[in-house]
Amino acid sequence: MSGEGKEPQAIRKLQPGKLVIASHNAGKVREIAALLEGRGLEVISAGALDLPEPEETGTTFVMNAELKARAAADLSGLPALADDSGLCVDSLGGDPGIFSARWGGENKDFGHAMRLIEDKLAAQDDPPRDAHFVCALALAWPDGHVEWFEGRVDGTLVWPPRGDKGHGYDPVFVPEGHEQTFGEMDEPAKNEISHRGDAFRQMVAAVF
Ligand code: IMP
Repeated sequence: MSGEGKEPQAIRKLQPGKLVIASHNAGKVREIAALLEGRGLEVISAGALDLPEPEETGTTFVMNAELKARAAADLSGLPALADDSGLCVDSLGGDPGIFSARWGGENKDFGHAMRLIEDKLAAQDDPPRDAHFVCALALAWPDGHVEWFEGRVDGTLVWPPRGDKGHGYDPVFVPEGHEQTFGEMDEPAKNEISHRGDAFRQMVAAVF
């Protein structure tokens, strides 16, 4: 095993103070700020600091989260947190994966993106409908240090879409052990089992 005989690296703790959320999506910033409440952090969005949005050129969720967090930490001189997430469909070789947002097109039309997935599955002969959501978090400091966390939830795709409580691909995703789609679940119930909830719980346990 690589690293054998070495002391495990301690995870760097996040001290009270300013934290940049490396996102220009106001909804996402609000959601993350709420998850971090009560930790003595002053949350500032990359949008409020007028930081440019880096191009997501990574080939994995973690690489894209890191690239966004690093850019914000470098430019602001403050610790910065970024996330990257998406839906991976086994029978489509993991697509749409890191391109999940882009499959919605300029209009962010996820009705169209869900239909696209269904059409691609229908073109195969009764393929397995397993899928999972992934959420990667990267926490970067101005000195170059980065911590990563990756959450995941496994499930099955259904058709037609059901429920209007969620966003993105929620209406076609039934998490393992459940009957409702994410689109039919209330937000707290979804957060308890979701990829995002999983990643945040890992981060909170590690850095506070
Ligand atoms: P990004 O992480 O902001 O780059 O966008 C990820 C994309 O993946 C979103 O636009 C959604 O389409 C999809 N996605 C990520 N998490 C979820 C989720 O919890 N439910 C439904 N769709 C999601």
